Amino acid sequence: MRKVKKEKTRLLPFFIPHIGCPYICVFCNQPRISGQQEMVSVDTIRRSIRETISEQGHKGQWEVAYFGGSFTAIPQEVQNTLLEPATEAFQQGLIQGIRLSTRPDAIRESRLKELYTSGVRTIELGVQTLDEDMLVDAKRGHTVEDVEQACKMIRAQGMTLGIQLLPGLPGETWTTLVNTAVKAGQLRADVCRIYPVIVIEDTELADRVREGSYVPLTIEQAVAYSAFLKSYLEGKGTQIIRVGLQSTEDFDAGRGIVGGPYAPAFGELVVNYEWLQAIQQAIEEHQEVFGVIHKVIVEYPRPFTSKVRGLKNKNVEYFGQEYEQIEWTWKQKEGNNNTGIVHVMIDTILYGLVL
Ligand code: SF4
Repeated sequence: MRKVKKEKTRLLPFFIPHIGCPYICVFCNQPRISGQQEMVSVDTIRRSIRETISEQGHKGQWEVAYFGGSFTAIPQEVQNTLLEPATEAFQQGLIQGIRLSTRPDAIRESRLKELYTSGVRTIELGVQTLDEDMLVDAKRGHTVEDVEQACKMIRAQGMTLGIQLLPGLPGETWTTLVNTAVKAGQLRADVCRIYPVIVIEDTELADRVREGSYVPLTIEQAVAYSAFLKSYLEGKGTQIIRVGLQSTEDFDAGRGIVGGPYAPAFGELVVNYEWLQAIQQAIEEHQEVFGVIHKVIVEYPRPFTSKVRGLKNKNVEYFGQEYEQIEWTWKQKEGNNNTGIVHVMIDTILYGLVL
């Protein structure tokens, strides 16, 4: 198992609408709205870098990030113009690297070398799924092999490799998800973002939801899928840097969303579910060996309280109902014991759980 490298880098992000994106992926509304979005100006980028990083005198690792579309698929002169202020900051030592998000089939070895020289140190690829049929159905316009090749080239260039996965695209089942997880593990990405599919207005998926040919994931399904991907990939040494879309005022008010498992604290729900599964596994394994269980005491460090008990005590309620014959005690550990270990005493046997 590879050791998970914790990313401590702070990002200064800029959103680049995908000018002239030749694709219309079923979940993406960028092609439909790109005409309404203004491209961030180079002056704005330069000023933001100065104000955020140099003038505030922030210490630590910084990366300027160009998110939002397929950076390496936009005309090269535009890429270079946009990169200019970040490259200057990189050369002055104000930032430690530049980060881009792009499509797997928009990666070329020669261009990667140039980007590296300009200061690009991290590339995040929109992988979405590694099921060939689902890629076609999602109208992604690239293959699984494109993803594998792109990942290989990025790693060979010595850059940090990020991937983005979208559980819940049309055709997703546990079988396709497990296959995607296994293949994603083989990509040996450094970091990964997991965004269960949310159906955004002005997308083909929104049309499909209205005509009834696509049913989005429920929150419960999305949590289970995401928790699985997260723990599988962490086990392969990939750090999960985000689970679930960033909450926005519009999304929180339900504006612009047609369906799907949006929840402002989605990442928390996934962690709650991981603890639920870990405790449940200990119970089941104990039961198999020792038979009937009478008493369980779950003891957690204070910072883990809501993670282990679940949001609004959902895990506490779940176990109380699911195993009502057991006498449950949930309590915080004494003192400032902040190790990530949760103790579960099942009758007379003590288990230490970590995620
Ligand atoms: S996801 Fe990327 S490639 Fe697909 S339509 Fe949106 S911007 Fe274009």
